[in-house]
Amino acid sequence: MYLNLTDALKNDAAALDARDIIKDCVHCGMCLGTCPTYGVLGDEQDSPRGRIYQIKNMLEGQADLASVQQHLDRCLTCRSCETTCPSGVQYGHLLEWGRDHLSQHHTRAWAERSKLGVLRHVLTRPALFGVLWRAASVVKKALPATYAAKLKPAAWSASTVSAPLALEPIDLTVVVHQGCVQNTMSPNINRATMRLLTAWGVTVQTVQDGCCGAIAAHTDDAAGARAMAARNIQMWGEFLSKQPNALVVSNASGCGVQLKEYGHLFKHDEAQAASAQKVSTAVRDVSEVVQLILTQYPAVRDALQIKIEALPDAAKYVAYHEPCTLQHGQKLKGSVSGLLTEIGVRLAPSINPHLCCGSAGTYSITQPELSKQLLNNKINDLKLDKVAFVLSSNIGCIGQIASAANVPVLHWVEWLDAVWSEDARVKSQQ
Ligand code: SF4
Ligand code: SF4
Repeated sequence: MYLNLTDALKNDAAALDARDIIKDCVHCGMCLGTCPTYGVLGDEQDSPRGRIYQIKNMLEGQADLASVQQHLDRCLTCRSCETTCPSGVQYGHLLEWGRDHLSQHHTRAWAERSKLGVLRHVLTRPALFGVLWRAASVVKKALPATYAAKLKPAAWSASTVSAPLALEPIDLTVVVHQGCVQNTMSPNINRATMRLLTAWGVTVQTVQDGCCGAIAAHTDDAAGARAMAARNIQMWGEFLSKQPNALVVSNASGCGVQLKEYGHLFKHDEAQAASAQKVSTAVRDVSEVVQLILTQYPAVRDALQIKIEALPDAAKYVAYHEPCTLQHGQKLKGSVSGLLTEIGVRLAPSINPHLCCGSAGTYSITQPELSKQLLNNKINDLKLDKVAFVLSSNIGCIGQIASAANVPVLHWVEWLDAVWSEDARVKSQQ
C-alpha cells in the first residue's frame, strides 16, 4: 500500500514503524470475519481493515480525527485480527500508534476526558481503588447497572485449607507480579498462585511492583503507561540482576501482554531499550510456568492427576474462557486448555472461543452497550448448563463473565490450588 507521510511525521520513528506495518496489509479482508465489532456492527469502519485505512489517513494528514477516534474507541484491542491475518499485520502496534497520535492531536469532549481521567486515576491506585470498591459495594443498588454489575464479590475470597501438601524444592525462582485492581477484586488469585507454586517446590518472591501500565495506555495516557512500565523495569531489573535465571510470572493475561511488550514500548529509547527487553524476555504467563513444571517434574504432574482423578465427574466438568490477551495478544492459544486436559479436567465445548467477552480493560465502562452484547454472546457460547465452574486467566474477563453467569467464575489457578489443597468447595460444586 503506497503511503505518503506528512512532513511532520517523515522523521518520526514511531510513525515510520506504523507505515511499515500498514505496508504489510494486502486488503484481503480475512480479518473481518473474526473481528467482534465488525460482527456486531457490520460496518467496515469498525473492522480491522477499515481501522487500518483510517490510521493510514492520519499518517497522511487526511483524516477526520473525531470520526477516527470513535472507530478506534470501539476497537476492543482483542487482536483477534492478528491471529487471522495471513500477512502478519501487527495491528496491535498500529492501533497503539493511532491512539497515541489521536491523544496528541484530537481533543475529546470534556465529559469523555473526565471519564477516562477518573478511570485512570482510580484504577491505577490500589489503595484508593480498594476504598472506593468497598464503598461502592455497600451502595451497589443505587448505582447505574453498568457499574453495579461489576461489583459482584469474587467467588472465593480465600482458601479454606491452610497448608497444602508440599513437595521437594525444585530449581526454579519466580517473582509474581502483584498488579493493581486484581488484588482488590479477587485477592485469592495472587495468593493461590503463590501457594500453589510454593507447594510444588518453586522459590516464590515478590517485589514492590505496580500497575503494568495497560490501564493508562487504554485511557489516552501513553506517557503515564511508560512511567509505570519504567518503574516495573527498574524493580524487576534489580531482581533479575541478582537472579538472572528467575522468571517474572503474570497471572492476569491483560497485564502479561503489556509486560511482554515493554521491549517494544522502549525500543526507540536508547537508555531503556536493553533493560526493558530483558524484563520482557523474563515474563511468563502462569500457564507457561505450570506447563514447564508439569513437563520437567513428573512427580508434580502425577500427584495432580491422582487428585483430579479422585474428583466426581461433575466436579471436574468446567468451562474455560480463553482471554483475547492470552490467545491473540500473548499467542498462547490452547496453553491452559491443553494443560487442564492433560491432567484430566473435563472441558465443556464452547462456540466461538476466539471472540472477546466484552471486558477488554476499561471497555465495559467506556462502551457499555457493545460490551453487554458481546457478554451475552459469550454466555450463550460457553454452554454453562452442566458445568461446575467457569475458569479463565484474566481478572477483567472473570469479573465480566461473573456478572452474568450462574455458576462460580474463578481464575484457573485458584481452582487448581483448591484441587491441590483438597478444598471441599471443589467437590461440593457439582
Ligand atoms: S487479514 Fe491482514 S492483510 Fe487482510 S485485510 Fe486484514 S489486516 Fe489486511
Ligand atoms: S483488535 Fe479486535 S476489535 Fe479491534 S479490529 Fe482487531 S479484531 Fe476488531
